[in-house]
Amino acid sequence: MTVEALRADVVAACHDLARRGLVHGTAGNVSAREGDLVAVTATGVVLADASQDDITIVTVDGTRVEGSFAPTSEIGIHLGVYRDGDARAVVHAHSSTAVALTLVADELPPVHYQQLTLGGTIPVVPFAPFGSTELADATRRALQGRTAALLAHHGSLAIGPTLPAALENLTLLDWLCRIYLDAAAVARPRALSPDQLQAVVEQAIRLRYGNRQATGDEG
Ligand SMILES: [Zn+2]
Repeated sequence: MTVEALRADVVAACHDLARRGLVHGTAGNVSAREGDLVAVTATGVVLADASQDDITIVTVDGTRVEGSFAPTSEIGIHLGVYRDGDARAVVHAHSSTAVALTLVADELPPVHYQQLTLGGTIPVVPFAPFGSTELADATRRALQGRTAALLAHHGSLAIGPTLPAALENLTLLDWLCRIYLDAAAVARPRALSPDQLQAVVEQAIRLRYGNRQATGDEG
């Protein structure tokens, strides 16, 4: 993939994120990795109006190689994720639903079996100022074995092998937060037990390997 194509993918993801209602104004940021290069939204970009000029190219170790503007202040989270694992896309938003959950819970327990695709329970990363090393390090730790994270009084973040996959993970996280908050308004939400989650994993394996005609709609 060329740098131009990578930049275009990030622009498209910014617009998609805004269309999904997960960001407002200049909140939120997006990046994608190809080889040693990362295309990332510049600081102060209104994601709904992002253009190719708003995307900066940096190396995985943080050296700016293209672009007129400095990268997002959360660049430490993005580059840390790429150095830690094999993710190729990172999306971060200030969704009101996700922020609301961080005000009333220390973690999002597994409230629906689809949460397994995010790695199960999602811990809430304690508050630290945006752009800080403390926040970047804590977020990277929270992402070990998971594809999404919640940041207290701040927002949500998701990773994936592609930008569309990361966007889907972020949208799924938002939906799960909504469910938790709706239930919590009535009573203390029940979580799926480890045994129930294990049964879902085993069923998914059975359907995938035992019946190749399975549609996977339930997965
Ligand atoms: Zn943020």
